[in-house]
Amino acid sequence: MGDAAAECTIKVVCRFRPLNSAEVARGDQYIPKFKGDDCVLIGGKPYYFDRVFQSKTTQEEFYNAVAQKIVKDVLEGYNGTIFAYGQTSSGKTHTMEVSYFEIYLDKIRDLLDVSKTNLPVHEDKNRVPYVKGCTERFVCTPEEVMEAIDEGKNNRSVAVTNMNEHSSRSHSIFLINIKQENSKTEQKLTGKLYLVDLAGSEKVGKTGAEGTVLDEAKMINKSLSALGIVISALAEGSSYIPYRDSKMTRILQDSLGGNCRTTMVICCSPSAYNDAETRSTLLFGQRAK
Ligand code: ADP
Ligand code: MG
Repeated sequence: MGDAAAECTIKVVCRFRPLNSAEVARGDQYIPKFKGDDCVLIGGKPYYFDRVFQSKTTQEEFYNAVAQKIVKDVLEGYNGTIFAYGQTSSGKTHTMEVSYFEIYLDKIRDLLDVSKTNLPVHEDKNRVPYVKGCTERFVCTPEEVMEAIDEGKNNRSVAVTNMNEHSSRSHSIFLINIKQENSKTEQKLTGKLYLVDLAGSEKVGKTGAEGTVLDEAKMINKSLSALGIVISALAEGSSYIPYRDSKMTRILQDSLGGNCRTTMVICCSPSAYNDAETRSTLLFGQRAK
């Protein structure tokens, strides 16, 4: 094993969903043009990523191309994180398939125990930050992982009146801690996989917003930009990484730095109706590279 920092890889990929039935019915223009497998053009302007996935990409193709390698590396002891970034209804949740705790108005809520609504971030003896008191479920099989995910999903939706609105304004974070022990060599291997379904990146309440809506908008913009800054600092190999600027980057600190495998999935709508949001989403992704 060499220097841990040198083993960190950060990738930014982009995925376009198909036009949905409402957009087709409205006669929306399909605006992206694809060039090779790493470039998308919007109105003739090219945006480059590690990979660009066209609307026809299936879940299986996407998983094989993006997630499979990360999961394999996590099983070998790396820390993996997959983020989904994009405006509401661009395909973030669809891409992650999972939706546990969430960060809403900078408060951390346990999705496996709804009585825990504002969990603190602490540091362990190695100064690695973690969410103190967060429920840990012991799982052995993929079915048990899916059960935990379903339970978190249910808890998330019963606690709020409008799930769509709520999920567009909170980040949901699913952590899988993997511990393996080789019974012959007694060698222990641990790895973490974070799946992060980010709040919608659209500019919420630009005008006339008051109270909670304005607080939400400020908090979302602040935490998404803090994340973008951390990722681009990591990608550039900067010596100073501002993890402490938001709760999310602080929690994910040892998975973003260190021996990490991080992929940011930039999710986009193909509709001309979302042209401006799509361009700003793509720019966020370019800056993170
Ligand atoms: P977000 O989480 O970004 O708000 P969703 O993942 O909920 O968006 O997607 C919005 C809708 O579009 C859902 O009904 C979803 O099933 C559909 N959708 C998203 N991405 C795709 C895709 N790549 N292929 C087919 N349908 C998709
Ligand atoms: Mg969603």
